[in-house]
Amino acid sequence: MTGEFTCGRCLQALHRFRLPLRLRSPALNSYIPCQRRSFSSGLIAWRTATSDIPDPRALLKPNNLFHNFSQSPSPAIRQRAAFIKQNAFCPHPSHLQTRPDEPEGIAPPAHSHFECPDCGIPIYCSEGHWVDDFEAHLEVCETLKQINEDDHDLRSGRFFPEFAMPGLQDENFVINMTNWDTFLYTREFDAINDDRSMRQVTRMLTYPLTIGSVLHELSPYSIRKDKRLTAEGLRSISALRYSLHPPRTGEGVDIQGLRVKAPPVRIFILGARAESSLPRDVWLQLSHIFPRSLINLIFIGPESMANRDEEFPLPERTPENPFGGIVEDRLGGQMKITTYVDYFHTMYKAHYFQPFDPYLDCIVLFHPGLGHPASSHEWEETLPLLLETKVPIITTGYTQWDMERDIDWVREKCAGEFDILLEPGENIFRSLRWDLNDLDPHDVSCGNWGLWAFRGKRYIPCLD
Ligand SMILES: [Zn+2]
Ligand SMILES: [Zn+2]
Repeated sequence: MTGEFTCGRCLQALHRFRLPLRLRSPALNSYIPCQRRSFSSGLIAWRTATSDIPDPRALLKPNNLFHNFSQSPSPAIRQRAAFIKQNAFCPHPSHLQTRPDEPEGIAPPAHSHFECPDCGIPIYCSEGHWVDDFEAHLEVCETLKQINEDDHDLRSGRFFPEFAMPGLQDENFVINMTNWDTFLYTREFDAINDDRSMRQVTRMLTYPLTIGSVLHELSPYSIRKDKRLTAEGLRSISALRYSLHPPRTGEGVDIQGLRVKAPPVRIFILGARAESSLPRDVWLQLSHIFPRSLINLIFIGPESMANRDEEFPLPERTPENPFGGIVEDRLGGQMKITTYVDYFHTMYKAHYFQPFDPYLDCIVLFHPGLGHPASSHEWEETLPLLLETKVPIITTGYTQWDMERDIDWVREKCAGEFDILLEPGENIFRSLRWDLNDLDPHDVSCGNWGLWAFRGKRYIPCLD
């Protein structure tokens, strides 16, 4: 009843208050994204880091966020500085570092001990090399300084209004997915007028929104010129949209309003790492933009329980739950999250998920490192099976280079066996926050920078 007398915007604010307490903002403040990249394809980890927040008496203020890494007030950042100094190498060309075919007479690799005074990140082995290579360094110095300040901001102990996730979308208000600004505005996110807040919040929201922006009927990608969706892509995505945007059925809360629900749309997130430990409020944003469909997120991969220590021990493998799946089904009734610490190809060969249905299934690979020398062997067995499912495979990369290496690898392994659904390019919903690779601080990247999609070729049977 009250709804009838309340304008739509207020109604949405009311929805927000109805969210259970544990799903609301303050809890999110304890989730501090931190980077733990073990090799250059990267690994971003979110973890609870309350212990890392400096003494509240020593709060960092917006004008006091810049500190040299090794003199940071945050012990974690000082530790990180030590890690970089121990593991990263000076990029000065005279080193031509760590290559096995290193010609004689060239300076041996040297660790990054010298911190650039402008960005505060240890990069060069000495002040001399920093001065000498200054022009090359200038290309990234400004971005590195931003990373430095953003990292300190996260540990400043300030209140983060931008992490307050809105609840259900009021049906009177249409979401606008043209870009981050229009999306966050139409979803009524708080405090999005500040660039730093935007960077912090998009670093988490990029995961649900990258998926949502491809699958939603108001997607910014289309078959119009330069909008990147291919004709094959439209066929596949339209099938999924049919399930994700079911017609209104006059459903209600009483007996007359009961309707048969369509089965859930399954979104398989393979090789899941840090994204599986994102706060559930963040993943629920995906459900909020598809309010009439059921969504089952399925995280699969040996690292999918990384940073989720409180959920151990894992369930036992029983005949009913042969792969020891962890089920979270109290996420508001529309979404379920299941996590398996196993390889997709093992489960696929056991026919665990079959049949795959192009109307109900989709696969997502967040920075899989398909072509990365350290991880491509792990995908070799999986790739043909992914193509066999004939469902769309949405893929991202940390940088243009990372993404193109993946595409080249897929072309090399399965030439002629797949169709491109979405032309590769910059992701409209990439993380706006840049991250550095602790093993190579010059290698700056951001979560889900690049986006493309492909699918196993569907053969049309020959009729003669
Ligand atoms: Zn050097
Ligand atoms: Zn610098």
